[in-house]
Amino acid sequence: MTVHRKILTQHGFVDKDLLTYPYEERGLQFGDGIYEVIRIYHGDYYLLTEHVERLFRSAAAIKLTVPYNKEQVYHKLAELLEINDVKGDAKVYLQITRGSAARDHVFPDTEPNFYAYVQDLPRPLTELKNGVSVITQEDERWQNCYIKSLNLLPNILAKQEAKEQNCFEAILHRKEKVTECSSSNVYIVKDGKIYTHPETNNILHGCVRSKVKTLAQNLNIPLIEEAFTLEDLQTADEVFLTSSNAEVMPIISIDHKQVQDGKPGTKTISLQKAYEQDAKIEQDASIFQVQ
Ligand code: PLP
Repeated sequence: MTVHRKILTQHGFVDKDLLTYPYEERGLQFGDGIYEVIRIYHGDYYLLTEHVERLFRSAAAIKLTVPYNKEQVYHKLAELLEINDVKGDAKVYLQITRGSAARDHVFPDTEPNFYAYVQDLPRPLTELKNGVSVITQEDERWQNCYIKSLNLLPNILAKQEAKEQNCFEAILHRKEKVTECSSSNVYIVKDGKIYTHPETNNILHGCVRSKVKTLAQNLNIPLIEEAFTLEDLQTADEVFLTSSNAEVMPIISIDHKQVQDGKPGTKTISLQKAYEQDAKIEQDASIFQVQ
């Protein structure tokens, strides 16, 4: 997936081949920073306000000062798409670290480092239509998962385990309670109601998750923010996950056991359609066409 040439930094736009990073950098040495992944459809940002608000919340939570105000962030992100002439489906990766300084655990007296780049991202149409398989894993992360921090070691280990078992994602649980996935939020449908973990410190408050709450309300599907258990997961009528990368993704197998008949459920499909309408991408909704 191609990364577009011009990368936005605090020193202006830099060609990707010329961007270098110091070895003493807080993000590299400590994971001392935050990030966002923002979806773009047909050259336009989707859920941009939600992402920018979360960026500022994450920054405040780790006592990091974003080097721009919100208006400046919106302006710079618009420029990033313009200068790279982005017209298709893509994502922006944006990261802010506490800066470059001699390695010391204590905060340095330096400016934060900021960069953002655009990468093409085709929609995962086959998976959206057919659903994906996942595994379950103990949630070994810290207690502040609402912060979108660069410290992702437990997340990548869980995702790697999923990959090694030919699965798309790992559903994480703290003892019996399901929290979320390694890079997405997770939901079950039971007796016509959707259940998902409440917005506590133990999950990332997903931007698509908050959109799904509204979409479910519009569809008159009750959505209950209550933690469910591994047992609930096994007996669910439907299971799905959400993220900016994966959209509303049906889960058809968990730990190599089929969910019900192994096909995406009807409520999940209604939410997928509602998502596509909201993101104005229904014209490319080949996922719903009968082949
Ligand atoms: N949970 C985790 C741990 C994530 O890393 C992500 C996205 O990267 C999500 C949930 C979904 O968040 P969003 O819907 O904002 O993409």
